[in-house]
Amino acid sequence: MRVGRPVKALPQPLCDYCGAKAVLARFADEAYPYRDDHGPLWVCTPCEAWIGVPARSTRNVPLGRLANAALRDAKSRLHDALEPLVAAKMRRDKVNAFEARGKAIRWLGEELGFDLPNPSIHLLSLEQCEQAIAHIEAFKAARRAEGAGEREPR
Ligand SMILES: [Zn+2]
Repeated sequence: MRVGRPVKALPQPLCDYCGAKAVLARFADEAYPYRDDHGPLWVCTPCEAWIGVPARSTRNVPLGRLANAALRDAKSRLHDALEPLVAAKMRRDKVNAFEARGKAIRWLGEELGFDLPNPSIHLLSLEQCEQAIAHIEAFKAARRAEGAGEREPR
């Protein structure tokens, strides 16, 4: 529960790779890794690792762990693997993409025994992303083999 909690100190995320304190960079700052504005980012420059903050966050709480190139790539592949399931869930359960994505990630976390305080792929490690992608592929293959139920869109 968020309500009623005392105001906490501003976050200081550490880099998972080297342990250094991440720096909050804004668009056009020297440390900012993108040429266009993706909102504020917590950055570890030596590791080329970063993580964003929620769009409406005023305290710049990081979305999850800092991600280097390999983890960013894995999260992007996991996102792509999940989207067909999310689309199917939206149709079936009549929920929006945000809710459907949350349920899909919660399902993955339960299936694979991840400890996720909230359903976000930004909390996953590289290994967990790879496990999750493999799990989704196996799930889809099993579904196809069954030949029953709802087909995933191609
Ligand atoms: Zn680092």
